[in-house]
Amino acid sequence: MSDIDAMIAQLESIRQQAQQDFAAAADSEVLTALKVKYLGKKGELTGVLKGVGGLSVEDRPRIGQVVNTIKAELEQVIEARAAELGAQADAARIHAERIDVSLPGRVMPRGALHPVQQGLDEMTAIFDRMGFMIAEGPEIETEFHNFDALNIPPEHPARAMHDTFFLRDTENGEPMLLRTHTSPVQIRAMQRFVGDGHEPPLAVVAPGRVYRCDSDVTHSPMFHQVEVFKVDRDVSMAHLKGVLQYFLSAYFEQEVPIRLRPHYFPFTEPSAEVDIGCVFCAGKGCRICKGSGWIEVLGSGMIHPNVLKSVNIDTSIYSGFAFGLGVERLVMLKHGIPDLRLFFENDVRFLRRMGA
Ligand SMILES: [Zn+2]
Repeated sequence: MSDIDAMIAQLESIRQQAQQDFAAAADSEVLTALKVKYLGKKGELTGVLKGVGGLSVEDRPRIGQVVNTIKAELEQVIEARAAELGAQADAARIHAERIDVSLPGRVMPRGALHPVQQGLDEMTAIFDRMGFMIAEGPEIETEFHNFDALNIPPEHPARAMHDTFFLRDTENGEPMLLRTHTSPVQIRAMQRFVGDGHEPPLAVVAPGRVYRCDSDVTHSPMFHQVEVFKVDRDVSMAHLKGVLQYFLSAYFEQEVPIRLRPHYFPFTEPSAEVDIGCVFCAGKGCRICKGSGWIEVLGSGMIHPNVLKSVNIDTSIYSGFAFGLGVERLVMLKHGIPDLRLFFENDVRFLRRMGA
């Protein structure tokens, strides 16, 4: 075997080995290293050329030609393999980054208004629709606004029944307390109205927190009331009944029968307790209405002349009706909530079920 035949056989074996290696390259880095190994300046093909000095002048170009052919061929193989590996890498990346649009989204927990606040908002909105003005008053009240002006003088037994939280502080010597009902807002709203030089009509809804020193299954030391009143010429019990009928049917989202029972409150005369036909048994009688078919929901009446006089409204021209309701009680009836304390324990399972 001549030198040139040996060299060509060597080149052929390098070519075959290189093709095998390139085909087996697992990624582009391995492929680059193989390219250097076979085709680089100090690579195997170049290494063969070093022996060219021992060949005859006629044979040297032949070897050069063979080396160039193999080099060109191998470069094509590398290019093809590189494209293949690139496509595989792209496919792998696309697979890794794929988004499954059929997966359910991540749910962010969403807050909701407390059921009592929802109730307050619903009730206030109904009166707002009827044209009542929304008013608020302080939770720390004077004895005058909470009692005296509402026709509850110091010796009146109703004061004792209110289980009042008295405060150590006084205002101009007058005892301060946590208001026991929202009725003092009636006084404050009328005082402001008259003080500003206005004449009735005046129609107000006053939602808010009230406090009584009382705590059991049906009583909480803090609870919510909505006070509603209207003062105008010729206001009668018929107006009161009409507003109650509209409000209670709107709030319970059904036509509820109502019944006014004579009662006594110091700040109204005549006074009536208001019952609705039981929303649970439609008046047939059940555990909740204690078989009567009726449920007491609020207290109402015609504003006592003494109350109007305390804020300098002329009772020979004007009269008015007023009522106050317990927000928790109505929310419990509307949603069938059995225990008042659920509102204040803040168990998220309950609040979530009641969420909007
Ligand atoms: Zn019932």
